[in-house]
Amino acid sequence: MLNLQQARWHIAQRIGTIIRASKLFDTEPWGKEDQARFLNQALWVSTTFSPLKLLDMVQEIEISLGRKRLEKWGTRIIDIDIIFYSNKIIATDRLQVPHPLMQERNFVLQPVNEIATKWKHPILQKTVAQLALECKDERKVNFS
Ligand code: ADP
Ligand code: MG
Repeated sequence: MLNLQQARWHIAQRIGTIIRASKLFDTEPWGKEDQARFLNQALWVSTTFSPLKLLDMVQEIEISLGRKRLEKWGTRIIDIDIIFYSNKIIATDRLQVPHPLMQERNFVLQPVNEIATKWKHPILQKTVAQLALECKDERKVNFS
């Protein structure tokens, strides 16, 4: 919760205006062994940065918040991903946009659906609302 608040603060200071913010969503963790709460939030941000510069900034913010790049899944204190960037399609080693797994994850689709339900995926040609309905992810996501 505090990490998300700090991340929003850094994003607003360093990246651009937060146009919309979803509620916080509480997600079932992947494995049974690690029961740490897993909170997700989607932000819609207006920025003048190019996609790659945006990725640099996002990674700097992760480091400012104390994230170490070698951490394994589940123990990370913050993960800031770029889900989409307008209707651009980017497929490089360092950056893929839209995020290649967004359509398979309720913890991405539910928050994004709250703030950008009509956005159309430029490759799949479906809205976020449609992707959220069709998603086969079994993990439950609840309002926190
Ligand atoms: P995760 O895949 O779980 O988010 P990381 O946050 O460690 O794991 O990211 C690994 C790498 O994913 C980053 O170094 C970055 O270059 C790359 N990457 C590719 N596409 C994206 C994207 N859309 N948003 C954020 N990172 C991305
Ligand atoms: Mg990431």
